[in-house]
Amino acid sequence: MLPEFPRAVCRNAPTHPCKPLRSGHPQHMTGRDGGPQAYDAGLYVPEGVDLQGLRDAAASCHGCPLYQHATQTVFGFGDVSARVVLVGEQPGDQEDRRGRPFVGPAGGVLMRAIDEAGIDPAETYVTNAVKHFKFQQAGRGKRRLHKAPGVREMAACKPWLAAELRLIEPEVVVALGATAGRSLLGSEFRVTKQRGMVLPMPPLDGDGDEMARGALVATIHPSAVLRAEGADRAEVYAGLVSDLKVAARLLSER
Ligand code: SF4
Repeated sequence: MLPEFPRAVCRNAPTHPCKPLRSGHPQHMTGRDGGPQAYDAGLYVPEGVDLQGLRDAAASCHGCPLYQHATQTVFGFGDVSARVVLVGEQPGDQEDRRGRPFVGPAGGVLMRAIDEAGIDPAETYVTNAVKHFKFQQAGRGKRRLHKAPGVREMAACKPWLAAELRLIEPEVVVALGATAGRSLLGSEFRVTKQRGMVLPMPPLDGDGDEMARGALVATIHPSAVLRAEGADRAEVYAGLVSDLKVAARLLSER
């Protein structure tokens, strides 16, 4: 079934789905009925609105199939004046239920690490590369187990992240983990190689739309700390704090 394309907010509505979307937009694909099916949140992103306007519009995004099983869209949280935007992968179980990013165990680790790194939490905006929870049910108990978003879902959701970043224009973006890094820097990104480095902010939609200012620092996702066991956990956490200190230093120099 084709998703609904709300003409009131859709940049491409007059031509959709007969013409290809502009370069850098996610792909059109073939639906089960053989017709075209777009995975593209760009069709739902309104122009000329503030963060609340984006949040409201994202609540009814059908840009990819992930909305079908999740509880709600989990949009970014924080102020438009934030100096740092922290980008995670996708909401987890608790975030999905509560409608706010980083309110689960990984969020607790992140907030502690931010504080330790010397970043003022009041100057941060937290969000995810993908705004709906992707999961699989674990048997009859119905525990919902996190499933990593695929490339198509990441690409589909990118217009929301791009819209957030354009409005906020942060001084520093912190990519937390491989999914956030790949969403912002492309498929070549490797968190093990590029973490803790100061990188230029890349174009947001692949067509040369460079952010005028701002730098990007990548690190691990805070959930990696929770997955580490024993003595490794302290080491993994220290690595996260160390990378965040790179972002803190950038902020102090500006
Ligand atoms: S994951 Fe992103 S693109 Fe997919 S439905 Fe949710 S908000 Fe839209």
